[in-house]
Amino acid sequence: MLVYQKKEALKVQLSELTSKNQTVGFVPTMGALHEGHISLVRQALEENDVVVCSIFVNPTQFNEPSDFENYPKTFDIDRKLLEDAGCDVIYMPSVEDVYENELNPEIDLGRIEEEMEGAHRPGHFDGVVRVLAQLFSIISPDKSYFGLKDYQQYFVVKQLAIQSNLGGEIIGCETVREVSGLAKSSRNLRLNPTNLDSASQIYKSFLAIKKSYNLIEELDIQKQILSDLFDVEYLTLCDGETLEELRDFSNTNHVRVFFAGKIGNIRLIDNFRIK
Ligand code: AMP
Repeated sequence: MLVYQKKEALKVQLSELTSKNQTVGFVPTMGALHEGHISLVRQALEENDVVVCSIFVNPTQFNEPSDFENYPKTFDIDRKLLEDAGCDVIYMPSVEDVYENELNPEIDLGRIEEEMEGAHRPGHFDGVVRVLAQLFSIISPDKSYFGLKDYQQYFVVKQLAIQSNLGGEIIGCETVREVSGLAKSSRNLRLNPTNLDSASQIYKSFLAIKKSYNLIEELDIQKQILSDLFDVEYLTLCDGETLEELRDFSNTNHVRVFFAGKIGNIRLIDNFRIK
């Protein structure tokens, strides 16, 4: 496995490979890797000749400086996990290496920027678009892999790919969960045992909503249950194709439930397909 910190050296290596008609799969991450990230790498390995994983904690997508500063950095463990998975290349650049000669494409995200994560984390998706435009243009992947756990991000990245022609095909990968149902996340490491246990209620609530015949009524019941454990930011049902909030479910066959909330000052998000 090759590790690059400078984009120029990485680009030389990648152009050599692509000149031999090798396809490149790309998995962008912020490190502190777990089984969720590695599942993306595995899928990328199945579908491409070469897989590049980036590890870059992107300052422009954090709206709380303390969240950026406290972001866990576990490079030695990450490297081992990627090596064991069979990843070919790690790109772990400095902020300067990523952002020099910034492209800053004009992407119209429409209402996505005002809903859910957009509303609760002002500027977050701008930062995501900025960093991915840079990483996509450095790596020029054939396919790029994103977790559906961050469904709204996946949606934003698809818009970026369509509107800027960067990133190749955008592939959404299923969420990897703990046995308890809690979505794997680097932030889970910061939960104490009680809160870790309480956090499994998110998935239980999703399942209860999925089973229910009256989605709106059940949504309200589950919001109440979750509010006893979390500082709930949203629990909402949206069309999976448009991300519009739904109150009537007759005209759509892709309904997803979305959650964000804080427990012990740790912010968790998750979502799940209802139909
Ligand atoms: P992050 O390092 O948090 O920016 O995540 C990097 C990528 O891994 C993103 O595309 C995430 O959606 C994805 N990811 C994070 N957690 C999971 C999970 N539990 N299952 C699947 N993908 C995940």
